[in-house]
Amino acid sequence: MKKITIAIDGHSSCGKSTMAKDLAREIGYVYIDSGAMYRAVTLFALKEGMLTKDAFDTEALQKRMGDIRISFRLNAETGKPDTYLNDTCVENQIRTLEVSQHVSRVAAIGFVREAMVEQQRQMGEAKGVIMDGRDIGTVVFPNAEMKVFVTASAEVRAKRRYDELTAKGETCNLDDILQNVVERDRIDSTRAISPLRQAPDAIVLDNTNLTIAEQKQWLLDLYRRIAEAD
Ligand code: C5P
Repeated sequence: MKKITIAIDGHSSCGKSTMAKDLAREIGYVYIDSGAMYRAVTLFALKEGMLTKDAFDTEALQKRMGDIRISFRLNAETGKPDTYLNDTCVENQIRTLEVSQHVSRVAAIGFVREAMVEQQRQMGEAKGVIMDGRDIGTVVFPNAEMKVFVTASAEVRAKRRYDELTAKGETCNLDDILQNVVERDRIDSTRAISPLRQAPDAIVLDNTNLTIAEQKQWLLDLYRRIAEAD
């Protein structure tokens, strides 16, 4: 079967990465989490003191963009790719609520997006790739053969995120998470550059009432239909 490109976009915390990872494993594709790249840039800005709750020195970040190298390496124990920032594994650090609270501001900046999109296109050059994010089907790979746009109710998404963070031992509050999910959707959908949009040729998946197993089957069926026809 010919290798294709699969773009999975959608709202925050609706399980895009879980489904993309599962599908990649099942069909032997490479999975790339584009959100992790924006999170890694955010972590860098926070650590370097360029970004605080009240201020964001975007000029300082622009000057240091060349010092930010992001890569993914397979973790043999979990069987999943970990995110590396300049050779340090930051997989856990980029998933905290603090990073989530700042990432959409960082991801709205033109020079950040340009740098990330360029790297994402290079990573996907060879096809056989599943990438998830907000602008994959619209900007990064507008010619992707398979495009899915995922959504679910904000309450269900917040609860899933809460369960995920709690399971990792992070103390968190469901209301804070709900607020963060809604706020990120607002910023992501209304920003001037590459806003979150459903590509006209994307297929919508509302997974509010789907189990992970049902969703996995839905995605696999869609992939087979598209890849076999291609
Ligand atoms: O997918 P995830 O929730 O980890 O993404 C974190 C944030 O990165 C999103 O809220 C969004 O602001 C940004 N993002 C983006 N474009 C992408 C992927 C993520 O703007 N392709």
